[in-house]
Amino acid sequence: MSRFWSQVARDLTPYVPGEQPKIANLIKLNTNEHPFPPSPRVVEAIRAELGDDGASLRLYPDPNADLLKQAIAARHGVTTREVFVGNGSDEVLAHAFQALLKHDAPLLFPDITYSFYPVYCGLYGVDHVAVPLAADFSIDPADYCRVANGGILIANPNAPTGRLLPLAAIERIVAANPDSVVLVDEAYVDFGGTSAIPLTQRYDNLLVVHTLSKSRSLAGLRVGFAVGHPDLIEALERVKNSFNSYPLDRLAIVGAVAAIEDEAYFRQCCAAVIASRESLVGQLAELGFDVLPSAANFIFARHPQRDAGELAQALRAEGIIVRHFRLPRIDQFLRITVGSDEQCSSLVAALRRLLA
Ligand code: PMP
Repeated sequence: MSRFWSQVARDLTPYVPGEQPKIANLIKLNTNEHPFPPSPRVVEAIRAELGDDGASLRLYPDPNADLLKQAIAARHGVTTREVFVGNGSDEVLAHAFQALLKHDAPLLFPDITYSFYPVYCGLYGVDHVAVPLAADFSIDPADYCRVANGGILIANPNAPTGRLLPLAAIERIVAANPDSVVLVDEAYVDFGGTSAIPLTQRYDNLLVVHTLSKSRSLAGLRVGFAVGHPDLIEALERVKNSFNSYPLDRLAIVGAVAAIEDEAYFRQCCAAVIASRESLVGQLAELGFDVLPSAANFIFARHPQRDAGELAQALRAEGIIVRHFRLPRIDQFLRITVGSDEQCSSLVAALRRLLA
C-alpha cells in the first residue's frame, strides 16, 4: 500500500467491474450489453459532428448538454429543468449520493442489488442498511415504508436478479417517505418494466435514473440521465459543476440525441431482446435450470445439481463468458446477458454438452 495514499483511499473497497476481455471472438454475456449495434442515426450524427477533419473537437462541448436535455425531456414528457445528464448512470448516481442523501440516517437498499451502491456509500461516507430480499428474491415494499432513513435506492428491475417491482409498489415507497429522496435506478426498465418517470410529476422526492448503455446499445459512449423535481436536479447540477462541468463530450452528446430520437429502432431492438430472453428462459428450464422471472436483458439462473462457479469456468473454456458472483445466497447463480439468437444458441449448446 503506497505511503502516499490518503486515509480515504485506504478505507475504500472499490467496485470490481465485469471482465472486458482483450481476446477476440469470445461470446460475451457477462456485462449486459446490447447484442445489436446502436441506431444507424447515431453513427451518422457522430460522423457529422466530426466532419472531415475533426475540427469541432478543438472546442469544448456544451457544459449543459442542452440538446440532449431537450431530447430527453421531449421523449419523457417533462421540462429540461427536470433533466440531469452525466457520463453514464454510474456518474449520475455518484452525484446523487453526494447531493441528495442525508447523513443523519442510513440509506436503505436491498441486500442483493447493484454492487456499486455500497462502494459509493464508502466513497461518500453514507451509512447504509442492506434490507434482505424475500426468499423468492423479491423486494417487499413494506420494508421501505416503516424505517426512518436518509434515502432509499432501488434498482428496478433489480440487478443481478432481474426481478421487477410493480409501479404501484414504487409509488407506495415514494409516498411513505416524503422527507427523504427515493432513487430508482431504471437501467434495465426498457426490457419489460414500466418507468416511474411519470410519478416525478406528483412526487418531489423521486429521482429516476436511466442509462443509454443497455437498451440504446451505447455502453461505450457513457451517457446516463436522471429525471426529477427541479430542486433535486439543481442539487445535482451544483455537485456536477463543482467536479466536472463538462461531463459529456461532443460525440456523446450528438450520439445520445440521435439514439433517443430513433424511437422505432429502439422499440424494435428491445422487442427482439425480450423475445430472445423468453426463448432462452425456456431452453434453460429444459436443461434443468431454475430461472428467476426477468424483466431485464439478462437472466439469473441456477442448476440444482451443478456448482455455478465451475459451470462459469467451464463455459469460459468454451469461449463464453457469463457472470458469477461469489456472494452469500447467490453464489449458486449465473447471471447471463441475453445475447443475439446465435450467441444464445451457442450458450445452450455448450451447456447441453457440459451437463450431459
Ligand atoms: N445501474 C445498474 C443496476 C447497472 O447494472 C449498471 C451497469 N452495470 C449501471 C447502473 C451503470 O450503467 P452505466 O454507468 O453504463 O450507465
